[in-house]
Amino acid sequence: MSIEETIALAIVYAERHLGLDKDDETYFTNLLLGHFGLTAPYEGPIDPARAEKMEVPDEIVDSIVDFDVKVRLMDIGEATRDATWVMGVLSPRPSQVSRVFAYLKANSSAKATEYLYDLMVKNDYIQKSKVDKNLRWVASYQDGPALEISINLSKPEKDNKDIAKLAHAAPSGYPACFLCKENVGFAGSATHPARENIRVVPVRLDGGQWYLQYSPYVYYSRHCIVFYEKHVPMAINPHILRCLFDFVDQFPHFFIGSNSDLPIVGGSILNHEHFQGGGHEMPIMKSKVRAFLPAPGKSTSLAVLDFYDTVLKVYGPSREEIVSIGSQLIAKWRAYDDPKRGILSHDGEGLHSTVTPIVRKVGDTYELYLILRNNRCTKEFPDGLFHAHPEYHYVKKEGIGLIEAAGLFILPSRLLRQGKEAEECVEKKLSFEECLALYPDLKPFAPMLRDMKENGASVRQHLSEVCQRILRNVGVYKDTPDGQEALRLFVKGALE
Ligand SMILES: [Zn+2]
Repeated sequence: MSIEETIALAIVYAERHLGLDKDDETYFTNLLLGHFGLTAPYEGPIDPARAEKMEVPDEIVDSIVDFDVKVRLMDIGEATRDATWVMGVLSPRPSQVSRVFAYLKANSSAKATEYLYDLMVKNDYIQKSKVDKNLRWVASYQDGPALEISINLSKPEKDNKDIAKLAHAAPSGYPACFLCKENVGFAGSATHPARENIRVVPVRLDGGQWYLQYSPYVYYSRHCIVFYEKHVPMAINPHILRCLFDFVDQFPHFFIGSNSDLPIVGGSILNHEHFQGGGHEMPIMKSKVRAFLPAPGKSTSLAVLDFYDTVLKVYGPSREEIVSIGSQLIAKWRAYDDPKRGILSHDGEGLHSTVTPIVRKVGDTYELYLILRNNRCTKEFPDGLFHAHPEYHYVKKEGIGLIEAAGLFILPSRLLRQGKEAEECVEKKLSFEECLALYPDLKPFAPMLRDMKENGASVRQHLSEVCQRILRNVGVYKDTPDGQEALRLFVKGALE
């Protein structure tokens, strides 16, 4: 497809899918012709039906990138950012999107979030055909609740030590981070994604100004991010709990949670206050009650969930009661020491205990999930006592954030290649040494190769087993009579 035809198609596509006004057709055609250094538009007709049935703009984006690389001699990064510029120009302005969102939200917040999601797919901010290539399966177990596992092919793996450094770094550059609202319309660079096509909408939470956007990675259905207007570090406190409850009151079709505010047990961005939510039912939300514990208040229930990490569920119709009980549990947990189980709330290196809170609304019942976390590193476990233990790092070394702690594992893309290499080695009946000669980075994969050879496990079965064990590592109170009694004692003391 010629670049002239691409421009003509892009204009008709934007009319059909991005709300571009037909009266602006000449204006946008000329803008794009000028941008690409062209002197005359495409002469042939564009069949509106062709643009109508395009579910994603891949055809347009690919053609622009191709032209930019071949004719304008850009590198692939520049060319990709240029295509993002085009999709941004053809998208409605941020203020228009906010107005439509607010108009729809007045009647149905679900319609409003669907409008924004559809716009983000149609303007290529969410690159849906790439995201759809991610591998995904449900891992079932004889001895515990099911988990969900995904091999993500689009996001690079981050190291915990890098994340920790980032958390303490002074904001530098512009925008200060990938979440700041200054990303809207930003041209990007080799190290920062182009964001001309992102749209964020304002949301008020507990008296503060926040913004809702979608995640370009789409780890699960309608994976959204809610970020604070200012670039301030994450902190878990009663205000944050009230923000989460305000969110589900406005968007009851979405759950919302905050990553912990400490490295290893938090997410990949600690220096900008933000939440993650969406329209997915996480494994943690399907898990059964292991034990009920007495809770203060008239209408609130408190339960320990039968899950791998340590989860308290506080639920009932009164959000005030739940926030009050939740805040008390969080404050007490932050200062609680249980040395027999390796739980030290703080030491010379700083604070170690925190929680990962997740909130959702089911009918009139509010549910608060508090996952107790501790990020202590010991001599034996230098990457974290309650983190994936070293023998599992070949599968996952990154911090265990809220998505994983809630039972959905996002594994790095290298595992797809390494899994195939392992399969090949097993098929050819190679010895471990022969495997390494062929694929040196399979060195830490000895347990996987053994499991495949001796037990006939598939790559997926093996990864599923490892994820279950990692989440057990994350649990601060193990599922043993002793561990559960200790948890009961903590909760009892915290609520007295
Ligand atoms: Zn920021």
